[in-house]
Formats: sequence, structure tokens, C-alpha cells
Amino acid sequence: MPKKTQRNGFYYFMLDFKRREERKGNKFNDLREIQDNPKCDQEWKALSVEEKKKYNDKAKKDKAGAAEKRTGLGESVKLLEKQQIEQQNYEIMMKEYINNNIEQAYTFDQLDLMSFYFIHVNWYYTKIDLNNVVDYIPAEFSVIEFSLSDGIKRCYHEIIKIVVETGYTRETLEHSETTHKITAYNQGETSDYKDLYNKFFDFISCGDRSMKKLPPLYTSRKMKTVVPCLFERMIAAADASRNIFDLFSLEYLFGTLMLRLNEEFPESGNRASLAEAELEKDAFVWTPNIECAYHSRVAGSGLYCSQSIVTQWAYTFCDYCCPLLKIKMINGKHCPNNNDDESLSASMHSMRIKEDRIGTLKSNTGVSELYRLQASSRTRQEDEQRKKQGRDLTIIDYSEIEEEKTSIIVPSASVSASNSRGKQRPLRSPISLSEVFTGYCTDSTPTLDDDNFPEIGARKSKSRSKK
Ligand SMILES: [Zn+2]
Repeated sequence: MPKKTQRNGFYYFMLDFKRREERKGNKFNDLREIQDNPKCDQEWKALSVEEKKKYNDKAKKDKAGAAEKRTGLGESVKLLEKQQIEQQNYEIMMKEYINNNIEQAYTFDQLDLMSFYFIHVNWYYTKIDLNNVVDYIPAEFSVIEFSLSDGIKRCYHEIIKIVVETGYTRETLEHSETTHKITAYNQGETSDYKDLYNKFFDFISCGDRSMKKLPPLYTSRKMKTVVPCLFERMIAAADASRNIFDLFSLEYLFGTLMLRLNEEFPESGNRASLAEAELEKDAFVWTPNIECAYHSRVAGSGLYCSQSIVTQWAYTFCDYCCPLLKIKMINGKHCPNNNDDESLSASMHSMRIKEDRIGTLKSNTGVSELYRLQASSRTRQEDEQRKKQGRDLTIIDYSEIEEEKTSIIVPSASVSASNSRGKQRPLRSPISLSEVFTGYCTDSTPTLDDDNFPEIGARKSKSRSKK
């Protein structure tokens, strides 16, 4: 275990200093950098005895606390236990909420009308904070409003622009390349979380700013620690109440619906696990045109698109629940838009298994194996459709990405793929042909004479005029 930092009064002052400076937009990579900062030193020296005492007292308190039991990772056992109890209480509250609401709606025959909000977040890179908590830096998120009677009602999607902190570029690039392929830049404009908070709030509350608490948002087990990192940023930027958002389990909600609607559903089973198994069948993973505008332009990345994932969740809910409630499913709302998709998704399912195994191994052509699999598995019709068809879902808002930026990550093979606006980028002729080929020979290879291959240093114009 690394030696623990000496936490004296100055240490706590540095943390304060860091917080203040970061709010002004200054960045530090570690505490040493702050320690060496002359401004920090000056400010510390200028503190009154009274103010210094405040920091020294904090250090004394910390020293006393250090004597308490800690885990192998240096976490306070007491704190962990406290968090565990909080977590348990939260889960009890959540289960009660879901059970009561589903039961009530079912009794009053309104289950199909209930609105649910699903959220998925992709991230650029992770950071471990002072309390050993993993912080996910958000890259993209998508929220949908969904009900069993109407299917997907509304969508809200954002790509978040950030400046990658020093030391995280490699992780950011690697994570992006192997998953969502969203590029983060080291400079330029960044997303304003206050603005995002307002848009998010307006989407969920339908513009009612007086709402004190928003309806719960549902996400999958794997997203449980990622989504709060987005919420925390929005809450901090907007100076909003910490409990404005409730994040509930998508699996528990689905399991409760399954239990309520399907008489054959095992009452004693773990409903969340059974629901998770149903969701992980990934029956709709190859549905075309459900990804966001950004991901529709970046071939081979739709699998990881937040918008695509929340849409698939909704389709899976409908696929299971609508027949039991005798709700007629509408293409593009309850299920994929294309009628041929069902047979398609079944055959693609086996592909998915293969792709899991292959992962993101690169072939020697520079195109990932995953991309090749997906591109070759598309039928001609589907390809045509990808080009012609616009988006099925209405996106309320999304970050507009310039073509220029996108082209950096678009593999060359996908130049002919359509972008979200249905426009097609024209193919340009290659510019790499030598002058000899373009100038003289149209259909045959050049002969090895002095005309075509003049001696080094010989004037080209000479041979040209000969012709
Ligand atoms: Zn996307």
C-alpha cells in the first residue's frame, strides 16, 4: 500500500484552493502541482491565525479518524457500512414505489397508460476520486418517454463535448475506439451542464419548472453507477436539489410487469434477474435506424449508441407485455419499423455471439472485425434503406457534429453510407494516381521508355511536347 499523504492543515487548504481554482476553469493534475503553485503558498501565508486554525482542526480530526478500521483499499469500514445501509434503504423504497404504482395502475386498468423514462449514458473515461469512488465522464446520453399503449413517445439525446484532462487521453481514445467511437477533443467548446440540466428537466417535466421532484428514471444494472455521474454534474451546475432525480432499476420494473401480466411467471424467482435475462437476449440489437444522428454516420458504432440501447429496452418491454395486454403494436413505436426485421434479428443473434468473441480485434486492413461483420451482414435492401430512410424517431435535441470532425473517425469504407439528413457525400476520384498514368495512358500500362520515365533531372516538359 502506498504511503499515506501527510494530512496537515495545509493539505486541507490545498483541497479548498483546488476547488476554488477549478471553478474558475484552472486544472491541476495532482496535489504536487498545487503545492508548487506560488499563488497557493501566498494565500496560505496570508491567512489569519483564526483561519489557519480551521484547517489545522480538520487535520487533527482526520488523524483521530485514521485510527478507525479500514479495508485493504484504505476505505473506512464505518463509512462503507453506512453506505451499504443507505443503499439497502434506497432499494426498499424503490421496490415499494414500483410495486405500489404497478399494482395501482393494474387495478384501475391503466397500466398501459403509465409513462416510464429510460436513460442510458456512455462515457469518455473514468477517474477515481479521493473516496475511491469511480467517476465516469459522460460522453452521450439518451432518455425516452415510453408507455405500453403508445410505445416510444418522446426522445431526448445529447452528445457531450468535453476537454479531456491531461493524463486521460489514452484511456479516452481506447474506450472510444472499442465502444461508442465518440471523439473527445483536447480543446474547443465544451457542453454547459446548466443548460443540459434545464433541457433535461424540461423534457421530463414537459416544461413545468415548478416541479419539485421528477418522475423516476430507469436504467440497467450496468448503468447504475454511470448515470449518477451525469446527474451530479447537472445538479452541481444548476445548483439544484440533490434528490430531484430518482434512479430506479430497469430490471426490477420489467420483472414486476412480467410478474403482474404473465400468470406463468415464477412468483418465487428473482424477478430482476429473470427480467435481465430477457433484456440480454438482445433481440433488437440489429434493428436499423434506431441510433442517434451521430452514430448513424459512424459505421460499426450503433451497437453502443445510447439512443439505440434505450429504444431496444422499450421494444423488449413491448415485445413481452403488449401481447399479454392485447395491445396492437405499431411499427417504429412498439417494435422495429421494418417487417422483415424479426427474421433478421434472429439470424443476427448468432452473429452477436461471434462478435462478442471476436471483440474488437483489428484485421490487417485496419478495419475492425466487428465493423466487417456488421457491414457484410447487411442485406442490399437494408443498405438501400439506410441510405434513403431518414430517422424514425424524433430527436428533440442533439449536438450537431460537423462533417469534418466526423470524417476523422469514419472508416474509409463507409464513405457511401448516408448521414442523418439523408444527404449523400459524393465520391471523389482518387488523387493519388501519378501524372504518368493520368497524363498519357488511359487504358494501357505505360511503356518503360524515356518518354514515360525520363531520367532523373531531365525536364518533363520535353517529353510532353513530343506527344
Ligand atoms: Zn448515439
